[in-house]
Amino acid sequence: MPGEVTARFSPCQPGGVREGDGQADDNRHCPGGPPGRIIAGKELLLMTERDVDPVIKELQRRAQNVPALQPLLPVYEKLLRMEEEVEVPSLELARPPSTAAADLETGIFLLHDVEPPILAEAMGAVWRQVSDLATAHLVEHAATLKEMREWPEVGREEWLERMRDYFHTGQVAADDETRDLWVFLLVHTWRPFLRRWAAELAPLIDDAAWKKNHCPFCGGQPDLACLGMEGERYLVCSRCDTEWRYKRLGCVFCDNNDSSTYGYYPYQEGRYRLYGCKNCSRYLKVLDRRQAGGEWVSAVERIATIEMDMSALQAGYKGS
Ligand SMILES: [Zn+2]
Ligand SMILES: [Zn+2]
Repeated sequence: MPGEVTARFSPCQPGGVREGDGQADDNRHCPGGPPGRIIAGKELLLMTERDVDPVIKELQRRAQNVPALQPLLPVYEKLLRMEEEVEVPSLELARPPSTAAADLETGIFLLHDVEPPILAEAMGAVWRQVSDLATAHLVEHAATLKEMREWPEVGREEWLERMRDYFHTGQVAADDETRDLWVFLLVHTWRPFLRRWAAELAPLIDDAAWKKNHCPFCGGQPDLACLGMEGERYLVCSRCDTEWRYKRLGCVFCDNNDSSTYGYYPYQEGRYRLYGCKNCSRYLKVLDRRQAGGEWVSAVERIATIEMDMSALQAGYKGS
């Protein structure tokens, strides 16, 4: 039960584990990494081009042991299928690799000076699909969602402004009652576009040069991380699934490394770690590949670990 999980999750308290467990914080490449794609000589841990059927099949299998996921599975299945079916035009970003390398060296993510290419028609169509899906599953918000569905038509300028704002800041200007609905629609409207564009530009990204805690491609924050076979840490962008290497120790969001306010709780016999930081009140879900083994797909891990999100949120932590 989520409540029982919540009661157990208390990093930095008895039962929680303090950070600083002697793992190397170096920049070595993981020789035991999974068989990811090879792009420009770089091994990627994540499958950026995925077949949605195996993802859904794996989620169905994992849901058998995750009660909180079972009622939400139909929504996630539809979102994943919709995401794969969206026809995303090429970004056609005129950015020579030398410029990209220079930007990354100075800590600037690749889309920093690019006006988000708001493809009003294509994005409006996705917006309506996501709205319909949300309406079917959030009956209590049906009337509000029905109105929001029409924003790309009846409130286009304001809708575009919010699309841009969300891209640049990750924030949305909305009242308390509708903010969660806005975030849901914005996240799932942007996601298919950013994922596809991130895959397109992946050859330009050399994460050895990237030392930031936000995504080298879109500037988004991580909502998932992975420890490689030597304990090295990779972060996964919550918006586009880009993965990048990041220093091993400390809170990803505020750099806190004080063991009295930063620590983790192991889940599923150490397969996962739920990190919590009392300095910034953020949490991060981490898969430990030394325990989990095999390949992993961020879309599966992000959703299959929903009880860790519930546990952290109920304990007062904030997500991405
Ligand atoms: Zn990103
Ligand atoms: Zn922190």
